[in-house]
Amino acid sequence: MSTIFSKIIAKEIPADIVYEDELVMAFRDIAPSAPVHILIIPKAEIATVNDVAPSHEAALGRLFTVAARIASDEGIADDGFRLIVNCNKHGGQEVFHLHMHLLGGRRLGPMLAK
Ligand code: 5GP
Repeated sequence: MSTIFSKIIAKEIPADIVYEDELVMAFRDIAPSAPVHILIIPKAEIATVNDVAPSHEAALGRLFTVAARIASDEGIADDGFRLIVNCNKHGGQEVFHLHMHLLGGRRLGPMLAK
């Protein structure tokens, strides 16, 4: 099932794209939770982490190499940052196209709200 992210990949709706290659795309979150908040997504339509298969490993590995590259480009690599992948209801997932959040630019505090 396609989501809004498929429309961003297809350039049918605008996004502030910071990186793109044959496997992944990265763009700024529309409602940022930190000074740097970028979503890194596989171009393949993978709904959740529960749907990950061995055939996705190249794209999912690419999410990390692109995260490191963007963190460097954004100047937040040394201070540090957080990568988050939410899954389903308890994880707080809202868009059912697997994506990695790259968050940084300030101290992010404890990992989870109590
Ligand atoms: P989730 O809660 O599914 O892990 O995160 C979905 C994220 O996608 C949210 O942080 C939300 O702000 C972002 N988002 C939802 N719709 C759009 C959109 O149309 N454009 C962009 N750039 N981000 C979006």
